[in-house]
Amino acid sequence: MTTITLVQGDITRQSADAIVNAANSSLLGGGGVDGAIHRRGGPAILEECRKLRASSYGKGLPTGQAVATTAGDLDARWVIHTVGPVWSASDDRSELLASCYRRSLEIADDLGARTVAFPAISTGIYGWPMDDGARIAVETVRGTVTAVEEVRFVLFDAQAYEAFAAQVG
Ligand code: ADP
Repeated sequence: MTTITLVQGDITRQSADAIVNAANSSLLGGGGVDGAIHRRGGPAILEECRKLRASSYGKGLPTGQAVATTAGDLDARWVIHTVGPVWSASDDRSELLASCYRRSLEIADDLGARTVAFPAISTGIYGWPMDDGARIAVETVRGTVTAVEEVRFVLFDAQAYEAFAAQVG
């Protein structure tokens, strides 16, 4: 049984087995959550990301996929990097966003992670409307069979928190 919890705050301050990064496909860092994770987590994360690029993801990590690295100096054992879709009004990319949550939980299961902290993937620089992003996040986690005991959504501001709270009920 997976419990969903909500926290308002900075995901890099969380203590969890795994922290999910809203990465971009280069895996080499970016803004938002990605920048914050690399800043606080230190160079060990980027070093592993570079190796992954060289060994397995020459063209980058595809949208909707996820991969784990060390968590460096963060209070976690792993960072799971996943690439959300950029929002499009004309093209329904919801399945790709759902895939980010599903694949991240599969990786967490492979690792044996029991607590996983997620940001609201794609709802920042990638422009996904928060209410819809929250709906997809909560529905997907609820619909995924996993040994993860706690999925913690870490929402940066009150609006994001309220959007997730409305979905969790
Ligand atoms: P994406 O490129 O997938 O949209 P972003 O990192 O730009 O990813 O944003 C994803 C969500 O995470 C946004 O709602 C943003 O406000 C939020 N966010 C940004 N920084 C942090 C942080 N340090 N901790 C938690 N959430 C964050």
